[in-house]
Amino acid sequence: MNFHILTLFPEMVMGGLNTSITGRAIDKGLISVEAINIRDYSHDKHRHVDDYPYGGGAGMVMQPGPVYEAYEALCEKTGKRPRVIYLTPQGRVFNQKIAEELSGEEDLVFLCGHYEGIDERVLELIVTDYLSIGDYVLTGGELPAMVMIDCISRLVPGVLNNDVSAEFESFHDNLLEYPQYTRPENFRGLSVPEVLLSGHHKNIDTWRRQKSIERTLERRPDLLRTAVLDKKEKKYLESLLEEKGLSL
Ligand code: SAM
Repeated sequence: MNFHILTLFPEMVMGGLNTSITGRAIDKGLISVEAINIRDYSHDKHRHVDDYPYGGGAGMVMQPGPVYEAYEALCEKTGKRPRVIYLTPQGRVFNQKIAEELSGEEDLVFLCGHYEGIDERVLELIVTDYLSIGDYVLTGGELPAMVMIDCISRLVPGVLNNDVSAEFESFHDNLLEYPQYTRPENFRGLSVPEVLLSGHHKNIDTWRRQKSIERTLERRPDLLRTAVLDKKEKKYLESLLEEKGLSL
């Protein structure tokens, strides 16, 4: 899978994504990440890419020309017109489902804004998806692009050493993940739950699903309305709700 990032700060995104699991995935050729410097497409002798907003107001706005030319050059080079995601606090809030959907694409372009954002006309011309990482405002789209690329990369086969680990994580079936434990067996008087030491896989699976349900009820009850539960699990949830005097 190929990620193309249109940015004014290539070193910021490449530094982060060349590290750890995404870095290894790049080395192995499972994903590729290229940062395209929008400033390279400026026709200004000082390489400016921003200007004052028409109508007045605070801050600067990124001009449409360099962004448009950067995207067109990418299309010419790759022979494709990939989906363009504009990182913006005004977009749909990114989640695991969106990540799963995007992981099916061969190429994705992430357009990072800065200052007050980007001239609307180029957005109208090239952007296919408007995505946010949450209801707060950052200085630029680079961190949101890195968040999304990290999350989508984990879903590319081979990127995680153990593909099963992506399958049973938080948000799978709309449940949060169960608690995890490793050595030592006893830590400051706290023991690992007995069932995890039993070697009885069926009991361990049941315990984990129940813990997932308990944890989701405690921390993100909103998810439970659409969680995928079997008959026994639904009964378990009902008993928890009754015990706590709650309803969804
Ligand atoms: N003036 C814009 C507004 O009110 O919608 C905010 C501009 S913000 C200071 C600069 C850039 O940061 C945006 O163009 C966008 O690319 C990025 N950005 C900021 N917050 C974001 C968020 N929550 N999710 C995704 N991108 C964000």
